[in-house]
Amino acid sequence: MTEPTPPDAPTAPDAVPFGFRNVAPEDKSGLVRGVFDSVSSRYDIMNDVMSGGLHRLWKDAMVRRLRPRPGEHVVDVAGGTGDIALRILEPFRDAAVTARPRVTVLDINESMVRVGRDRAFDRGFIAGLEWGCCDAQALPLPDGCADAYTVAFGMRNMTDVPAALREARRVLRPGGRFLCLEFSRVTPTLAPLYDAYSFRLLPVMGRVIARDAESYRYLAESIRTFPAQDAFAEMITAAGFGRVGYRNLSGGIVALHAGWRT
Ligand code: SAM
Repeated sequence: MTEPTPPDAPTAPDAVPFGFRNVAPEDKSGLVRGVFDSVSSRYDIMNDVMSGGLHRLWKDAMVRRLRPRPGEHVVDVAGGTGDIALRILEPFRDAAVTARPRVTVLDINESMVRVGRDRAFDRGFIAGLEWGCCDAQALPLPDGCADAYTVAFGMRNMTDVPAALREARRVLRPGGRFLCLEFSRVTPTLAPLYDAYSFRLLPVMGRVIARDAESYRYLAESIRTFPAQDAFAEMITAAGFGRVGYRNLSGGIVALHAGWRT
């Protein structure tokens, strides 16, 4: 069994973490794409199994905080199989298209988008929902086009987090809201149990259910290399957001960060 180990010492000044390995910046997005290509067909079931269904509550909390309103344009980045988008639209299921929010789901990975699109179609969500493939660090959207920007469990996969945050600010209109749900640092009492779960049980579950232990090892490692709550809040502020704050969920397993486009 592998115990948690600190990331390698950087081998090059511009190296970026991919789990506990340091890789060249130009290699990271391809490696991340490989992870999600590998898990896309089993991604939704694995989320339920791995989190014991908690990811549903975390995502519900994010959408409650967002309070999407009719006519608003929400951009959900790293939207994957559409969990956030479908939660945003569900309460408006019976409303006319003009009386719903409009959601644009963007993700770098075609296979995740394909699963999401099929799922949305099966659930009858077609109008008011757009899908696209792109990198969060270069969004194909005009300045100030969005009332809200959401990203759930995507930020830690970015090669250049400050660049992704700058793009979030660029596409938001002044006064637009930024919400990020991401795995974070657990309270010290929870840490031993959480480490045992992440580094012992998770890869086994990944191997048995998704037939892919490595991708789930990456998940555990990428959580440990992402900035902790306060450090990430500072990065959001540095990107030009105001009134930045966060709320821990489930003892800090996840943090919901929020800010306003000034
Ligand atoms: N938001 C969804 C959810 O909460 O279920 C999916 C989260 S999944 C853990 C992370 C997603 O981030 C994957 O779909 C992956 O393809 C996407 N992703 C990774 N790097 C990205 C990037 N640079 N730009 C856009 N999407 C990216």
